[in-house]
Amino acid sequence: MILQENVLLAPLTTFHIGGSARIFIAARSEKDIEDAIVLARTRGLPLHVLGGGSNILVPDAGVDGVVLRIQLAGVAFQNDGADTLLVAGAGELWDTVVDAVGTRGMFGIENLAGIPGTVGGATVQNIGAYGAELADVFEYADTIDRTTGVHARIGKKDAALAYRTSFFKNNRNCIITAVALRFSSAGAPNISYPDLARARSAGEPLAAPADIARAVRAIRAKKFPRNDAEGTAGSFFKNPVVSRELADSLRARFPDLPTFPQEDGRVKLALAWLLDHALSLKGYAGGPVRLYEKQPLVVVARAGARAHDVEALARHIAERVQKELGIGIEREVELFG
Ligand SMILES: Cc1cc2nc3c(=O)[nH]c(=O)nc-3n(C[C@H](O)[C@H](O)[C@H](O)COP(=O)(O)OP(=O)(O)OC[C@H]3O[C@@H](n4cnc5c(N)ncnc54)[C@H](O)[C@@H]3O)c2cc1C
Repeated sequence: MILQENVLLAPLTTFHIGGSARIFIAARSEKDIEDAIVLARTRGLPLHVLGGGSNILVPDAGVDGVVLRIQLAGVAFQNDGADTLLVAGAGELWDTVVDAVGTRGMFGIENLAGIPGTVGGATVQNIGAYGAELADVFEYADTIDRTTGVHARIGKKDAALAYRTSFFKNNRNCIITAVALRFSSAGAPNISYPDLARARSAGEPLAAPADIARAVRAIRAKKFPRNDAEGTAGSFFKNPVVSRELADSLRARFPDLPTFPQEDGRVKLALAWLLDHALSLKGYAGGPVRLYEKQPLVVVARAGARAHDVEALARHIAERVQKELGIGIEREVELFG
């Protein structure tokens, strides 16, 4: 285990924002994780788990504790009857895994191409895009409990993957070390999502998983800022799920509002549409941070922006949505530490 002190976290996040970690450990093995748990306990410091830093905002003051960056690598395939199981280290880049699966001609995660971050972070968040989510293929995750050091395998049912959440998100003691995904030989393309359907109508070949992944990456390149130029953590807020009554009253005010009925009778609303058409907030800026012109759910930070600026903008947006539309919105991006 290699331990460093006062390591600046901003370069390890896609927001490019935030102060330093008092202690920083890059874990390349389960042993590194176990040693880090013991070290944090011995020194009486909190332990914070970092993946690819693409769904977090690090405070300007940094993190007064141990930051454990999960970098366990490796991708292996196993036959399981007619299916194939993929087992990946939690620190593998998600997009590398998408390519490894696509190269084998297996369908299931090609619509999730181009999402930054690690396999562990993707599981915590149950990433989703273009009509697919990680839950569709999730089989199990291997974990270490940060308080007891106990190893456990969490299966599909207990993992409780749901819209941008999971058991792991709500049980911070679990450190994911590896994730298994199941791919069926009967897998088929899922190109019903409007952007992909349009690409097919335009004549793009979308027969193989690698074709779809390429099309998804091209679509995403037009929707997100270039991360080397500006900082972002993708969609900052979740799409709100509201009562049918509230959805009906909003539809009466805004007949074009896209709505998605949920199994429990509630209705998911397209927050980007509301920010743009109901509140005219597309491109709205607070100092060096703004809602992205091409997708207002995305908060973008110019070089030099601070976590404080992002917090101020996010609070302002949430207040406007509450006051003018009567909707309480939740953040997708997490304040780290
Ligand atoms: C440009 C851009 C586009 C994006 N598009 C999408 C999208 O289309 N769909 C989508 O769902 N998300 C999207 N995201 C959000 C983000 O990429 C995902 O949530 C990603 O899976 C986060 O993974 P990470 O490794 O970066 O996690 P981090 O940001 O490092 O961590 C996120 C959380 O997971 C925890 N965590 C990370 N690794 C582990 C582990 N091994 N064990 C336990 N806990 C862990 C951390 O403690 C933290 O709480 C986007 C982000 C960006 C910047």
